[in-house]
Amino acid sequence: MQIIPIGAAREVTGSCFHITSKKTQVLVDCGIFQGSTFARSKNFEDFGFDPKQIDAVFVTHAHLDHTGRLPLLIKRGFKGKIYLTPPTLDLTRLVLEDSVEIMEMDHKRYYTPMLFTKKDVQQTLKYMHPISDNGAICFKDLQIQFHNAGHILGSAFIQITEQKGGTATFSGDLGNVNTPILMQKDNLNNTDALFIESTYGNRIHEDPEQRWIELKSAIIKTIKQDGVLLIPAFAIERTQELLFELNNLVENRLMPFVNIYLDSPMATEATDIFKKYKKYYSKKALHLIAQGDKLFDFPGLQITKTKDQSKTINQADWPKVIIAGAGMMNGGRILHHLIRYLGNKRCTVLIIGYQASGTLGRKLYNGEKRLKVLNEFIEVKTNVTSIGGYSAHADQNMLIDWIKSAKVLPKHIFCTHGEDEAAVALATRIKQDLNINAEAPRPGQIINI
Ligand SMILES: [Zn+2]
Repeated sequence: MQIIPIGAAREVTGSCFHITSKKTQVLVDCGIFQGSTFARSKNFEDFGFDPKQIDAVFVTHAHLDHTGRLPLLIKRGFKGKIYLTPPTLDLTRLVLEDSVEIMEMDHKRYYTPMLFTKKDVQQTLKYMHPISDNGAICFKDLQIQFHNAGHILGSAFIQITEQKGGTATFSGDLGNVNTPILMQKDNLNNTDALFIESTYGNRIHEDPEQRWIELKSAIIKTIKQDGVLLIPAFAIERTQELLFELNNLVENRLMPFVNIYLDSPMATEATDIFKKYKKYYSKKALHLIAQGDKLFDFPGLQITKTKDQSKTINQADWPKVIIAGAGMMNGGRILHHLIRYLGNKRCTVLIIGYQASGTLGRKLYNGEKRLKVLNEFIEVKTNVTSIGGYSAHADQNMLIDWIKSAKVLPKHIFCTHGEDEAAVALATRIKQDLNINAEAPRPGQIINI
């Protein structure tokens, strides 16, 4: 089996592996490259393989950096099948439709070209096949097994075995420990080669148990100074985790009452998809439901779906908390709130997710004091704080622990889906601690298993 990382090699976005066996060519993921712009110009370039020759795509999870180039793949001649878990199918539809809206806005504002249209997304959905409950697929000379990755609803790591050949495992993105809603990730099975994500390959998270305490203190501080707390949040998973923990804080009277606005139609829809797939929940979450708790609803929560409803937040009294997308602040309703509040000392931006290099969120996180938001230059006077424990990704120790969960350690490990430093740091630690051959491959590097 030959494997070529097409994207997410020495960077975080653009996940895609091209796999050639004796009888077929398939992909794992087909994601978009993101950064300072929503869809970087690199997305329009050749894939590096012929889409007409690809028989199937196996999708690890719905995030755009793993699914965002699927419509383009079809536009360029792909005729095969796209396999994914049922929640990933629902969430991918949502993610792709939302991305068209963002691209349309960027197109109107900055004349940036559209990578694909609504019609292309509709077309893409026709190629998608939900996998069965056991997660196993036989495809030509390949045996494919999906396992729970504990990253977002429906997320999987994928193990591919070639007939009379080797086995390769693709981690996709791996979840943090103690995730409040979802089941923990499965152990790693025996594999010859492992392609492991390294988003946080050089970092150790804050204790996830502490994060709700920090969330609580950010809210209480906002209430005390009669300010506004902005929480840019990814629509999928992060928002539901946030609602889950706010639900706990409010219903157990652990903080004073404050109006909390969920200003993200996409997050609202994602929450509805979450409610549909309870079999993916942890025992703890199911126990709360059994006691009659609505996990994502509590007094003070206001959901603003339409643009007009969203505008009412501007007039609402202070203090208030606003949760809005996009999580990296490279699009979405959060931008309008940033324009309104970034210049005010009584306001706080609370960063709870990974901010890719080049994004507005990364600039804010790095402490830049003058930012261009949409077409306006703004002096930043707000407090900017972050809580690391909210990451949906495993940190360095958790990645190492997951590798060690295999009964037999992999022979070779490739650290992908991480910026240079993070990928190399993880490879170095794997070599030192586990004595396994490890490297951070470059895009286009040919790997034979
Ligand atoms: Zn992801």
